[in-house]
Amino acid sequence: MIPQDIIALKRDGEPIPAADLRAFVLDYSLGNVPDYQMAAFAMATCVNGMSFEETSALTQAMMDSGETLDFGDLSRIAVDKHSTGGVGDKISIPLAPIVAACGIAVPMMSGRGLGHTGGTLDKLESIPGFSTQIEPDKFNDQLDDIGVAMVGQTDRLVPADRRIYELRDATGTVPSVPLISSSIMSKKLAEDLDGLLLDVKVGSGAFMKTVAEATELATTMVGVGASHNTPVTAILTNMDQPLGRAVGNANEIVESVEVLRGGGPADVTELTRLLAVEMLVLSGVESRSGAESAVETAVTSGAAYDVFMKLVERQGGDPAAIENLNLLPTAPGEHVITAQTDGFVSRCDAYEIGLASVRLGAGRAKKDDDVDHGVGLTIDVNIGDAVVASQPLATITYRDERSLGSALSVLTDTFVISTEPVESLDLILGELK
Ligand code: URA
Repeated sequence: MIPQDIIALKRDGEPIPAADLRAFVLDYSLGNVPDYQMAAFAMATCVNGMSFEETSALTQAMMDSGETLDFGDLSRIAVDKHSTGGVGDKISIPLAPIVAACGIAVPMMSGRGLGHTGGTLDKLESIPGFSTQIEPDKFNDQLDDIGVAMVGQTDRLVPADRRIYELRDATGTVPSVPLISSSIMSKKLAEDLDGLLLDVKVGSGAFMKTVAEATELATTMVGVGASHNTPVTAILTNMDQPLGRAVGNANEIVESVEVLRGGGPADVTELTRLLAVEMLVLSGVESRSGAESAVETAVTSGAAYDVFMKLVERQGGDPAAIENLNLLPTAPGEHVITAQTDGFVSRCDAYEIGLASVRLGAGRAKKDDDVDHGVGLTIDVNIGDAVVASQPLATITYRDERSLGSALSVLTDTFVISTEPVESLDLILGELK
């Protein structure tokens, strides 16, 4: 079938035979289908969706567009976690060393900031010297030795996703359940995992705004995993307000290290530990109660912190900047946003805070922009907290007045104080297997 026939089928909501869908994607990744035809297909998919069979075939074709990893010789079971993206979501950074300290291999392939959301790679690169690229032959050795590697996707792994993703970003075709599912699952299934945990974010700071949308995404991804013989668990978590206090890059490393040292904000600690337990249960080596005590011991004994230090050293980072967190980059300016009245926090909008962080320079306005690791926000309140007038709600760390002004212009309605008491938000919104 020629590309225009495939596009026309999707436009008219007709099923596309799996073999034709596969040929279309593989031809695109070889450069034989032009971007405008793939963009038209992505838009038709955004509008008309896909059957589960089509999503599964699309995922397989994207995986087959490049190399896959092989962990067959690894002495550990390999389990990874992927978040669909949020604001202040640094969970991978403390989570991976905790799970590795419990004996599992965590081959974490992370991403960079996307839109208003932060990226694990950008955060890790605020540690002086830290490299998110590892030679392929060293990757398995590192996993065997310390149980964790945190790297970016290579050019050879799922190249079709890299190209399609850039096209979607530029054509308004990101928010589509089949396209997000195939994008995430093709990368994760190419990792040869024994299990995958998905943290599906829901709310203003997430790509999925409602529990219904997030449930559809989670159901599709869990199903795609099952059709590729990979056990997947999806946890739906709240992203109406940022996770933890720090939003940025270096400041999120500080918060992650606090969690590894047994401290940190309650929501970050709770989610990190819960996801660590789920990963151990998924690995099949621990019962739930065994996993809970293994995770507790990994943190309290300092074993998880030691694994993180080894990770930093193995990937070229300066361990002194973790021992003494004051050595991490920080920008000179500080601006405090305060409560105007007494009352209860009823809004602390994750999307606007994420956008402000990008405006400060912690994320990218354009794909090739540099990231400023030392800027960001510290959020002092959660929805439901009681506050008094002039109490700090957030502190902005900034490099120059222009970026501060730009950040403040998106924060005008971000914090709302109500006179009536407000319920705090549930962090965990659901689970699917
Ligand atoms: N993350 C991905 O990797 N792909 C998407 O499509 C959306 C979020």
